[in-house]
Amino acid sequence: MPKYKIVHDKEGCIGCGACAANCSANWEMKGGKSSPKKKEITDKELDCNMNAAQGCPVNVIHIKDEKGKQLI
Ligand code: SF4
Repeated sequence: MPKYKIVHDKEGCIGCGACAANCSANWEMKGGKSSPKKKEITDKELDCNMNAAQGCPVNVIHIKDEKGKQLI
C-alpha cells in the first residue's frame, strides 16, 4: 500500500535533471522539466525519492506521510 505522497511544484522546477539522476526509478525528464512516474509511493520507494528531493537545488520536491506530515 502506498504510504507517502509526492508533491512536486512543477512550476518551480528548473529542469536540472538531478532528481532523475538520483532516483531514476521514479523521476523522468519530460519537456525540459521533471515528472514523477508515481505520486504515491511505498516504504520501499521512500529512500530513492528522499534522495531525489534532497538533491533538488530549488527544493520543489516534497514528500508527505500518510498523516499529511511533510518529511521534506
Ligand atoms: S531536481 Fe528539482 S529542479 Fe532539478 S529537475 Fe528535479 S525537480 Fe526540477
